[in-house]
Amino acid sequence: MVDSHYLCVHCHFYQPPRGNPFSNEPLVEPDAAPYRNWNERITAECYRPNAEIGNFDHISFNVGETLGSWLALHAPKVYKRIIKADRQHRKAHGVGNAIAQGMHHTILPLARRDDKVTQVLWGREVFAHRFGHRPEGMWLPEMAVDSETLEVLVEQGIEWTILSERQVSGELHGAGPYWVELPNGSRIKVFLRDEGLSNDIAFNMGKFGGAGRWARDVLVPRRRSAGALTLIATDGETFGHHWPGEEQFLYWLLRYEAEAAGYEVVTLGQYARMVEPIGTVTLRENTAWSCGHGVARWVTGCDCTRGSSNWKGGVRRAMDNLRYQLDAVYEDEVRRLQAGDPLALRNAYIDVVLGRVSAPEFLASRGLDLPSDAADRLMKLVEAQYYRQRMYSSCTFFFADLDTLSTVYGIANAAYAIKLTQDAVGVDLSREFRQDLSVVVQPNARPGALLNAAALYDDLLGHMELTTSVPTT
Ligand SMILES: [Zn+2]
Repeated sequence: MVDSHYLCVHCHFYQPPRGNPFSNEPLVEPDAAPYRNWNERITAECYRPNAEIGNFDHISFNVGETLGSWLALHAPKVYKRIIKADRQHRKAHGVGNAIAQGMHHTILPLARRDDKVTQVLWGREVFAHRFGHRPEGMWLPEMAVDSETLEVLVEQGIEWTILSERQVSGELHGAGPYWVELPNGSRIKVFLRDEGLSNDIAFNMGKFGGAGRWARDVLVPRRRSAGALTLIATDGETFGHHWPGEEQFLYWLLRYEAEAAGYEVVTLGQYARMVEPIGTVTLRENTAWSCGHGVARWVTGCDCTRGSSNWKGGVRRAMDNLRYQLDAVYEDEVRRLQAGDPLALRNAYIDVVLGRVSAPEFLASRGLDLPSDAADRLMKLVEAQYYRQRMYSSCTFFFADLDTLSTVYGIANAAYAIKLTQDAVGVDLSREFRQDLSVVVQPNARPGALLNAAALYDDLLGHMELTTSVPTT
């Protein structure tokens, strides 16, 4: 093994939580034509062809839960092929090639510790549910990181994660792995992706003239010292969706051309078992792979997106205010019903989300024997906690415009948490949430238009009344 040069391609497969939680109708996104919505289109362009030609067998990968649950339901053959890849890899190498991901693709450095714990624990549990074993690694949404996030990973039994080279300082020799020492005295392994190669693949792949030429021209001169690992990590959708037909690039690179260029293809799970950390690096706090301004892209807005994006801070303020109110109602009720630790209850709720237990079984497993109206109230409030987690998806704050669908979906999740809370205990948090949204505007997003976040919210509520007035039997 010491004579080899190693290459790993890690693919981050992910789609945002699409759809309005108020609506049970099939999701229609006209700009995804000729498909009904983007999930269907990207499945046809990327997930299915990559699964069919066996690419999942040779990469390291994670599948975000909002995508994983959708595939399980709407593209079961593709889903099963992905699960099979990890199972076969485990059989052959004693370790899987899939890793977990933070549940709702939340920018974890922007979350309080309790929310970090929930996101990581839920991500770990959904992985175990889908892949049948505990994860060793976890993908951090947008690679957004701070020390507290890494401490939480360690506490939740995660052994390693992936960062970009510029997110650390220290002496670097390829992808590592390296130790990162943490303030609480623990430490975690990190692999570092080669930014030059990863970005070359992400942004220029269609111009390479094939995997063979790229391997000869680019990979051969980049060979590191024997035994070292080169890691390419990018969005999995690069192969087939962003670059149509280029699932073939991945196929040829990993089956033939990497070897011809003097590399042995491995996965991160394999390599983590072969090689101990080769050094220690220092974390650059509050950084991410997709923003050059720390994590400003998801909190204040920054130059990563065109035009004025300070609506992001306003929407986040509205959600943060709402979050404190939702938590207060939830925690009061948990205390009143003597239902134990509110955080532990919320974290365990993932079993209900995954359908592993029914609501009565969930309450019974926690030693709760409640009258049916109290049980109903508690389940609605804990479900509201689920949607309040979901509203913070990075996609709510990623794009340039306030009226981007993924931002509207984020606000819809907030609205749904409000509705559940009102249904449960009659407390109406909508007026204050709307007030906070009403100060959020985006000037000139479209010629002559002044977008207002409260108007988006009103549209959603209009839709809610429409759906709730239709008998659902
Ligand atoms: Zn930025």
